[in-house]
Amino acid sequence: MMETLRQKQTRFALSVAQLILKAQELGYEMTLGEVERTLAQAKANAASGAGISNSLHIVRLAVDLHLFKNGRYITDNLGHQELGTWWKSLSPDHRWGGDFLKKDFNHYSLTPDGVRA
Ligand SMILES: [Zn+2]
Repeated sequence: MMETLRQKQTRFALSVAQLILKAQELGYEMTLGEVERTLAQAKANAASGAGISNSLHIVRLAVDLHLFKNGRYITDNLGHQELGTWWKSLSPDHRWGGDFLKKDFNHYSLTPDGVRA
């Protein structure tokens, strides 16, 4: 039976729980960023260049996880690389924003169609 969007959302939520624990295991502190975004906000982000209009945040299949190490907010590839690689190892439909053309290191998602990330 095909997995519905709602079932994917639940699988994603459980994966995010694992992601948070893994980040802690790797020695990070973390705070939660955005999960759900309205279509209006996504369109506004696209217009301002801050995001895309078909973001997976609209369907609650993406999370922005803010990492800190030794009190420093991690904004670069190095800080997220290990966690991003681990995230992708959980499932073939997991994507990490560090792989995007326009880097978005704190973005972790589950692609519902293999296209959107
Ligand atoms: Zn995001």
